Amino acid sequence: MPSSPELRVLFITSEVFPLCKTGGLGDVSAALPLALRALHNDVRLLLPGYPQVLAGVKYKSKVAEFSALPQFPPTTLLSARLSLSKTEHLPVFVIDCPGLYERAGGPYMDEFGRDWPDNALRFGLLSKIGAILASDASPIAWRPHIAHCNDWQSGLTPAYLHFHPGKKAATLMTIHNLAFQGVFPPGSVVQLGLPPHSFSINGVEYYGNLSFLKAGLYYAGHITTVSPNYAQEIQSEPLGFGLQGLLAARRRHLSGIINGIDVNEWDPASDPHLAQNYSSKKLADKAGNKSALQQHMELTADADIPLFGVVSRLSHQKGIDVLIQIAPQLVKIPAQLVVLGSDQAQLEHLLAMLAQAHPGAIAVRIGFNEALSHLVEAGADAFLMPSRFEPCGLNQMYSQRYGTPPIVHATGGLADTVVDCTPQTLADGSASGFVFDTMSAEHLLAAIKRAVAAYHDKKTWQRLQKNGMAKDFSWHASATAYQRIYHSLIGKP
Ligand code: ADP
Repeated sequence: MPSSPELRVLFITSEVFPLCKTGGLGDVSAALPLALRALHNDVRLLLPGYPQVLAGVKYKSKVAEFSALPQFPPTTLLSARLSLSKTEHLPVFVIDCPGLYERAGGPYMDEFGRDWPDNALRFGLLSKIGAILASDASPIAWRPHIAHCNDWQSGLTPAYLHFHPGKKAATLMTIHNLAFQGVFPPGSVVQLGLPPHSFSINGVEYYGNLSFLKAGLYYAGHITTVSPNYAQEIQSEPLGFGLQGLLAARRRHLSGIINGIDVNEWDPASDPHLAQNYSSKKLADKAGNKSALQQHMELTADADIPLFGVVSRLSHQKGIDVLIQIAPQLVKIPAQLVVLGSDQAQLEHLLAMLAQAHPGAIAVRIGFNEALSHLVEAGADAFLMPSRFEPCGLNQMYSQRYGTPPIVHATGGLADTVVDCTPQTLADGSASGFVFDTMSAEHLLAAIKRAVAAYHDKKTWQRLQKNGMAKDFSWHASATAYQRIYHSLIGKP
């Protein structure tokens, strides 16, 4: 870090990979701060002191004690270091509050899948300490320009800061998952030390309860979500999950930034899970992965038949039911299909039956298998992602990087990251896959047939592959976009 960093940012989060992860937030909380630090910003994380966090960070030292917070049990603030690799580290602040965090189980639920009954206090404390550190009430010298809040767990930070009379940081609220909103009974407002008059439609109230997420969306200086198209979609039903009115009202302060991917982990030139490494200059070597995948999945060995891949949670959101509907017609084209995934038992069962009915043409693996997911990305000719909605999506980016053009429904981040193949987009060099507008079996099948026609025209196909492989999906691009928002929040050009 240079002596005079660009910006100081407190990144407030309830998860960070590899210490504690239940979803995409954990990955983003490690990768984005690293990429922002590479741009010379002084980004530090604020985390709850779950046992795995206290055990997983190094060089812990006590920097403050909070004795004057009547709502919360005794709390100490630690400064520490989180190592992500031999060369990559993040400075972190850890909230050590045994009364709220020292327990077995997950960050949000106990071992039986029940929400912790004191979640309002647990994440109220995260939000509160975030607000203190981001204001002139902070007991430490390091003062951030920006408090960057993530999902409902830190949603009260902008509210606490709003009611703080002194100097304070600007706030950014990022939505990674709009489905979880942190809704608690109205009595929590006073219990958490918020002013009673904040319990209003113009405040933290949400249908008669307190909503942490709504509070963040209402009071934050700016809101982001994980793709520009999803930022539009959540302003109306059904994807607004009840918050569409507020999000539409704040649309001038709402933007979408696509998540990056780990371009080292997902690089066909060095990926250890592949049968044969390749690059856009050595595209012919991709074929070794197709034959390895066909062999591994007991599909008929055939270098010329188009092979479609799927790696996904097997859920309604991901459109797997629609895929199952058209699979028999896909086989007739002719084409092959490989599916790797797990989740809803009914869909798992239907897929297993499909594989049984079409041996050699459809192969299904139920389960989570990191290595196989890499081989599917490399070995398939094209990748299927007919999601009903998709805030950002990762696999469509992996597949473009692997020269495996994706076929996607025009929703959320899929619409932002895949350019439909048309004569015009082929001519201007932007075509990178196949996009269908309406979510239906008929439209999915039509897109698959367009892909098969392009696949049999080797020149067109190679152009599609190379266009996708040349795209920049790195975190650097995303971090630059976040930095622009930070600058606009503090009035820096
Ligand atoms: P979501 O987070 O909604 O499930 P994303 O596309 O954003 O969807 O990310 C899913 C991630 O999980 C991707 O990295 C994908 O490769 C991986 N994944 C999903 N299912 C499996 C599986 N069965 N085996 C291996 N990886 C999987």
